[in-house]
Amino acid sequence: MSLTLKAELHEADTMSRNESSPSEGSISPRRGKFPVEDIIYDRIIALIMEKHLRPGQRLNEVKLAAAYDVPRSRARRVLERLKDEEIVTFELNKGAFLSRPSAEEARHVFETRRHLEYAGLSLICERATKGDLDVLREHILAEQRAFSEQRRDANRLAGEFHDLLAQMTKNPILEKLLIGLVRRCVLIQSVYEVETNSLCLTSEHSQIVDAIEAKDAQAAIKVMAQHFDHIVGSLDLREDRERATDVYALPN
Ligand SMILES: [Zn+2]
Repeated sequence: MSLTLKAELHEADTMSRNESSPSEGSISPRRGKFPVEDIIYDRIIALIMEKHLRPGQRLNEVKLAAAYDVPRSRARRVLERLKDEEIVTFELNKGAFLSRPSAEEARHVFETRRHLEYAGLSLICERATKGDLDVLREHILAEQRAFSEQRRDANRLAGEFHDLLAQMTKNPILEKLLIGLVRRCVLIQSVYEVETNSLCLTSEHSQIVDAIEAKDAQAAIKVMAQHFDHIVGSLDLREDRERATDVYALPN
């Protein structure tokens, strides 16, 4: 990736204008009344989920501040937040870089996320409203369109389905944990994915929503388990692959 972050931001803005409308399932487009830190944060997350930004890539605080016309202290605040969420790591005298999880960490992250998603589904089956189900169904339609048109935002939309589930647990602590894990899984997929087509099967998302509508937590968990088997099955988490891939880690 040779583009600067600013160019990527511009590219992403152009793509989002071309590819998505506000009704296409983005959870909460944040504009105007939200602090600029939230806007920058959301943009970086979207760029990660659409794979414009890759693990190991540098996030330059000075360029970030210039791109958004804000003081460096505010750009740093965003990077600090990403560091707290283990999405970014700081290297002494070098700056901030997108984290590059090890294979072992990747296994632990997926294992944790899997079990928290199961717990979340139990709560969702008790708490989901008709309105929640409508939101999920609408989101899946947006995902299906994005996948069938092979758009780059398909990855982001697929991840956002899980963000929506996290919100629908109506437990803010679980929501925060889950959304953080979804972000880290995107980074892991960027490093270790070998079968890109099985990222997030929208048909499985539909089956999960069917089970939620039926208030059948066991069925929802069973589909989610299959879903995770497919996602993890699309990754090559052998340590020797990790070492081999490190040879080609992007220079900064
Ligand atoms: Zn999924």
